[in-house]
Amino acid sequence: MKKFFIYLGLIFGASVSIYSQKNYDDYFTENSLRIDIYHCGNNNTEAVFFKEFLKEKIWAGTKKNLINSFDLGTYQVRVYDKNSGILIFNYGYCSLFGEYIHTEEAQNISKCFPESIIIPFPKDRVLIELHSRKIDDNKFYKIWEIEFDPKKDLVKEEIVFNYKTFNIDIKSNISEALDIVFIGDGYTFEDEESFLTDVDATAKYLMDNEPFKNFTQQINIRAVLPNSAESGTDLPQLNEYKNTALGTSFNTFGSKRYLTLYDYHILRNFCSTVPCDHVCVLVNTDIYGGGGIYNFWNVTAAKNQYRNEIFMHELGHSLAGLGDEYYDSEVSTEGMYNLNTEPWEANITTLVNFDSKWKNMIKKDIPIPTPVENKYSFEVGVYEGAAYKSKGLYRPFINCKMKSLGVAFCPVCQKTLSDIIKYYCE
Ligand SMILES: [Zn+2]
Repeated sequence: MKKFFIYLGLIFGASVSIYSQKNYDDYFTENSLRIDIYHCGNNNTEAVFFKEFLKEKIWAGTKKNLINSFDLGTYQVRVYDKNSGILIFNYGYCSLFGEYIHTEEAQNISKCFPESIIIPFPKDRVLIELHSRKIDDNKFYKIWEIEFDPKKDLVKEEIVFNYKTFNIDIKSNISEALDIVFIGDGYTFEDEESFLTDVDATAKYLMDNEPFKNFTQQINIRAVLPNSAESGTDLPQLNEYKNTALGTSFNTFGSKRYLTLYDYHILRNFCSTVPCDHVCVLVNTDIYGGGGIYNFWNVTAAKNQYRNEIFMHELGHSLAGLGDEYYDSEVSTEGMYNLNTEPWEANITTLVNFDSKWKNMIKKDIPIPTPVENKYSFEVGVYEGAAYKSKGLYRPFINCKMKSLGVAFCPVCQKTLSDIIKYYCE
């Protein structure tokens, strides 16, 4: 999960699965199955409601790592072959609903949020389960399941055509690459040149920086431009609203700079014909803001002077589920972290089960916890203060892109990002 932009003031100043991998072609076709759902509830209860099955043209994900070895995300999708009962595919993700439940509003109002479960298209009957992680013990509990039979169930194949697609930088076969798709919001078709300039600059910055620099031959970049009726985005705090293709908006959950989009189904419509492992939305605005949610979306203010830095920080959230390493902000964190359990984010620890984190990356003579002193400036350690709390939560490095813009990802964040990129590329 998460999250929020970094405040401007900060700018410069896995458990391994016991299951064995399955042979892709035994169970899946070349398409994707998208299961559109509504994730509903409040701070106390959650429920999932089914909308429809959709068939998408391409499965862009890995065909080798069908059983995900990461233990990331608030939610986990598990797909079982109905005949044998064996697990054939899984993945984790977070969502906007998962953040909503921690807001004050969620104490009084139940809301529904569109989400999609996306899996390779099954050849035979499957059981699809959705599990939700409980904050009390950090374990997954099944909250919903549905059966799918490709021979019987109704599957929609409608495609939205009112958009343009562009191959920006294609290096590898889709099943052996991290396929990133940039989608523009608040750009009209007349803004095409402006959009492509933003895509090129953001993609170049990505490829020039670690750890992505090590994988330039395995990262494909494509772009999709839906035709927004108006340029810009919603600024509810100023009572300014724009009619845009994806409906992006600032002021999410009352946080002025939290730029997000509500309707995941609409977003997904615009990448249903493009190989897509990861969606990054560029918003045509110069106002500072962004957001990133693990395996969900990355949203960045494309015309802001800190665009590249915002994008990379949010990519830490959206691609690898990294937690924020800052702690001196006004972000409301009520109930987000339980200090009695180990959080699932790879770069945050409560020291409850530190063996499962970056302990093996710390040199023998470094004290745990590690004091913030000059001599440790470039040492992996355990520094108190992370994830919006100055006490009880720890980060791996004194400074990191998940803490401040303008600095590199720390070694722990780089390793996590590299592991995720490799997962897509094998
Ligand atoms: Zn870090």
